[in-house]
Amino acid sequence: MRLILLGPPGAGKGTQAAFITEAFGIPQISTGDMLRAAVKAQTPLGIEAKKIMDGGGLVSDDIIIGLVRDRLQQPDCKRGYLFDGFPRTIPQAEALDRSLEAMGRRLTAVLLIEVPDDVLVQRISGRRICTDGHVYHVDFNPPEQDDVCDVDGNALEQRPDDAPEKVKRRLEVYHEQTAPLEDYYDDLGVLQRFDGTRSPDEVREHISATLSTLRLEESA
Ligand code: AMP
Repeated sequence: MRLILLGPPGAGKGTQAAFITEAFGIPQISTGDMLRAAVKAQTPLGIEAKKIMDGGGLVSDDIIIGLVRDRLQQPDCKRGYLFDGFPRTIPQAEALDRSLEAMGRRLTAVLLIEVPDDVLVQRISGRRICTDGHVYHVDFNPPEQDDVCDVDGNALEQRPDDAPEKVKRRLEVYHEQTAPLEDYYDDLGVLQRFDGTRSPDEVREHISATLSTLRLEESA
């Protein structure tokens, strides 16, 4: 299974990624998580990326493509992987195509989770995250104790790029730079669409059924 989760910020990609990686025993490759780890470790890349991420823009294609190429060489990627938040631009998608081709591989599917902007704004503004990446929502998935992670007791915070004025910018960036990937992958015949306004369980069931069918087709 070589999968891409595509969709605007707040569509529920992280939630669905958790279930897909567990169900299929494949690693999640989240460029956002990789960048946040670099920011936390204060590596030169992290220090550079932080400014761009905090402003809601996109980190340069060269940096991202380099990160992903290195990650794909890790042994856990042999059985497949799920990209979350990558590719975000046409040049990133083209670079991925070239890497896959060089390895004699192709994508199994691109899973597009569709949600209108007004719903996204409401969802993202309530999102809270702990320093180890556990995600909550003040209305839809609240922690037991306000602002404390149920898993490890860390303080919960709003991601700097989840602040309302940054969210607007991130949605603009999505529509300008990332949405063209919908047509790109549709033309390649690998795009599968999911209604992200449905409940997380409904979206999961729909994705699960689609992936089971694809797996049967691949092994036929
Ligand atoms: P995410 O957690 O996927 O929403 O990513 C958070 C931020 O990291 C984005 O707003 C970008 O600034 C940066 N980022 C993550 N993935 C990419 C990517 N594939 N290309 C460029 N920037 C990215």
